[in-house]
Amino acid sequence: MSKKNNQLSGPTIQPRPAMRPIHRVKGMKDIQPGNYDAWNFLLRSTFKLAEFHGFERIDTPVLESFALYERSSGRTSDIVTKEMYSFVDKSGERLALRPEATPGIVRAYIEHGWFNLPQPLKTLWYGPLFRRDKPQLGRYRQHHQLNFDIFGEAGPWAEIQLLFLIHELLQDWGIKAQIDINSLGCADCRPNYTNELVKYYKEKKHREQLCPDCRRRLLKNPLRLLDCKEPACIALAQDAPQIIDYLCGPCKEHLVKVLEFLDNLGIQYNLNSQLVRGLDYYDRTVFEVVMPSASAQRPLALGGGGRYDHLIESLGGRPTPACGFALGLERLLLNLEPHKVAASKERPDVFLAQLGEGPRLKSLRLFEELRQAGLAVHQSFTKESLKGQLAIANQLKVKYTLILGQKELLDGTILLRDMESGSQEVVDLKKIKPILLKRLTKTR
Ligand code: AMP
Repeated sequence: MSKKNNQLSGPTIQPRPAMRPIHRVKGMKDIQPGNYDAWNFLLRSTFKLAEFHGFERIDTPVLESFALYERSSGRTSDIVTKEMYSFVDKSGERLALRPEATPGIVRAYIEHGWFNLPQPLKTLWYGPLFRRDKPQLGRYRQHHQLNFDIFGEAGPWAEIQLLFLIHELLQDWGIKAQIDINSLGCADCRPNYTNELVKYYKEKKHREQLCPDCRRRLLKNPLRLLDCKEPACIALAQDAPQIIDYLCGPCKEHLVKVLEFLDNLGIQYNLNSQLVRGLDYYDRTVFEVVMPSASAQRPLALGGGGRYDHLIESLGGRPTPACGFALGLERLLLNLEPHKVAASKERPDVFLAQLGEGPRLKSLRLFEELRQAGLAVHQSFTKESLKGQLAIANQLKVKYTLILGQKELLDGTILLRDMESGSQEVVDLKKIKPILLKRLTKTR
């Protein structure tokens, strides 16, 4: 092309380089269309049951001060040393994306003086947590938990209520999981046990088999040796001394009471002497919900918790006994039967189909009128074809579909289709609401 020509046609437009899509951050998950049915199934039943049991919904911020976790979860815990997303913000404050819920909940308990509310106080918390874990199936860098906590109850009744609630939820969800339980004793009896444990692991033949992480744990946090996931360490833990043999009188009595209640309620459990949980703040009872597995590897837990009678005090509050439990939503989702979720979906009463611009507008008004009359109405105003709309109505398993076309609009009528029999009748548009209400109350 000549220079002149080039000038006439203006500057050449360079083809845009193909834009590379940006992917989600490693270990994060999107909730895609269709996924929420299962989430809703879990969340709705939890919120309902928790309300029946007198748990109050609370929330805390995603961002907290780093020191909160350092002081509660423990300086040597995996969460603080390896997994926390922390950063210094522009004002120089060290902050963290919450890796677990309990410290934030306890901070709020102290900060807002929840001890002035009637005790025991029962709270339910739901939200995302962030841990820089090694991503794999069931282990993500953002996951969601449901946390149940009971404050101000020192007796075994707190554990019983939590375990009973978990048992009920698992039954509602159709998840056949196992409840593991143990006691970590208290500040009086635990040191004797830890000494014995250290002695056992320091024996040359045992020490040599430990993984590098456990050699470190032996010095800093020996209890954690019992829940290491390395096969050699799992084998060694089998023959380690058991804490149950070292519990003091009151701790033993507390555990026995919890177990007696469970027996009474017919809730099965597995007394697991290797269950220690990964955090520093637990006293006495600890528990976990696991899916029974045939392999030697410890299965991924669905949830876990325990008593933390000294955490509130150690974060600056007045001494208050407490007990809590967390369920991991993503792991529960992996264990849900799809038919349970499908069966839980509410069946709408009516589907409203329309054909053409005028009927669509009229349908919008009718939709609002029927909805306000208390009917569960669904629609798909963006779909043009009747076939497509009826397919949705079928999928939703509605009892009736209303069809409004140009002819009906002019006549002031509407077609009422019984989806089970396929029969169709022409109805006066003004009478459709009372007719539907009458028929549906009969069949409900
Ligand atoms: P924890 O706070 O570690 O006691 O965990 C409580 C529950 O949260 C676990 O039993 C899991 O169900 C779930 N959970 C913990 N960490 C993760 C993770 N990285 N990804 C998915 N779920 C998790």
